[in-house]
Order: sequence, then C-alpha cells, then structure tokens
Amino acid sequence: MSAETPSIVIKRRGLMLVLSSPSGAGKSTISRNLIETDPELKLSVSVTTRPRRGSEIDGAHYHFTSKREFELLRDNDALLEWAEVHGNFYATPREPVELAMSQGRDMLFDIDWQGAKQLKEKMRGDIVSIFILPPSMGELKARLKRRAEDQDAVIETRLKNARDEIEHWGEYDYVVINEDLNRAFAEVRAIVAAERLRRDRRPGLFDFVSKLLDEKL
Ligand code: 5GP
Repeated sequence: MSAETPSIVIKRRGLMLVLSSPSGAGKSTISRNLIETDPELKLSVSVTTRPRRGSEIDGAHYHFTSKREFELLRDNDALLEWAEVHGNFYATPREPVELAMSQGRDMLFDIDWQGAKQLKEKMRGDIVSIFILPPSMGELKARLKRRAEDQDAVIETRLKNARDEIEHWGEYDYVVINEDLNRAFAEVRAIVAAERLRRDRRPGLFDFVSKLLDEKL
C-alpha cells in the first residue's frame, strides 16, 4: 500500500474550485498544472463567443460558439452562470457541473469575478474560491506581451480590465500572489488538500467514526 492509495476512503461532497485573476496573472498555467497532476479534479469547459486562439482546441479549452447559439443556451437555462468579459460572452454549461456534483466529483472553474459571484449564490458551501494576484502591474503587462497571443489593442483592453478584476479580490476565500509559479501552484494545491479534509464536506465520517468506536479491542 502506498501513500497515494489509502485503504480508508471516506465519502465526501464534490468541491467546486473557482480560480479568478486578471489576464496574465498565471491562472491558466496553474489551472492546467492542477488538472494534469490531480486526477480527482476535472475542468469545467466554458462556452464562449470569443474567437479561438491559434493554440486552442474547440471542446478542450472552450466550446466556441456564435452569439446566436450562446443566446439560445442562455434562454434555455443551460448555463449555470454567464458574463460579458473583454467584450465577449463566457458561460459555464450547467449539465456537466450538476452531474459531477451528484457523483461527488471535484470541478475546477477558470472564470471571472462575475461568474464566481453567481456560482457562490447558487452553490454556496460547495464553492472554494481563490484569487490569483500578479506581483505587480508592470509584471502583469510584461507577461501579457510575452504571451503575444493577442493583438496590442487586446492587451491594452485587458490591462485596463485587470484593475476592475483585481478590485474584487476581497470576495474570495483565498488569495495567492503569483510571484513564483511553483510556489503559487504549491499554495493552491495546499488549499485544495485542506478543503477536501473539511469535516462538513465528508458525510462519510459519521459511519467511519461510529465503526471506529464500535471496534472491540
Ligand atoms: P480568456 O479570453 O483569456 O480565455 O478569458 C478571459 C476571462 O474570461 C478570464 O478571466 C476567464 O477566467 C473568464 N472566463 C472564462 N470562462 C468563463 C466562464 O465560463 N464564465 C465567466 N464568468 N468567466 C469566464
């Protein structure tokens, strides 16, 4: 038996991990690392009307849709939350989240503060929210330029919007400053590990403890 495969598994409720930050603060990299290293965590793939970037795959990074399709989904109550960000529409599809939650699986949401607020109102105790801050605005700009996936005008809009996003840091459960990516990633993992151990998220503890106390020595 290794530390990776415990013999005692306690049934617990699924966790909805929300990560928000201004563009360029490292949220996408942290999200990707989390998904790649944590088999219990699944990414919620959002719907967006934003044009696809060269490196993105439809269905994996986003479900890219037209504005018309987006409006149809919204009007049919197929979206758990939606928001306009940087002039495009983004939303979380409802069905995969409800399925994951009913099966006690964890989901990761890379969404903005507007989406985080809506999810919190709907899901309350199942949400754990983390805001990722850049070490400085200068570093944020440099990272956006280095990424060079967007045109200059897009970068300028994102920098302006970064301030508005950062103003909402106080609405989150945790704040991580991403000065060093490895350290920020380790901090996010520590938050996830601790939140999974919360008593109120582990209804299976009742059975475990009563069996423990019934044990004849
Ligand atoms: P990007 O265009 O750089 O992929 O994302 C722009 C912003 O939209 C990011 O802050 C990202 O977290 C946010 N976003 C992505 N998907 C969703 C979503 O489903 N809902 C909301 N509210 N925001 C989202």
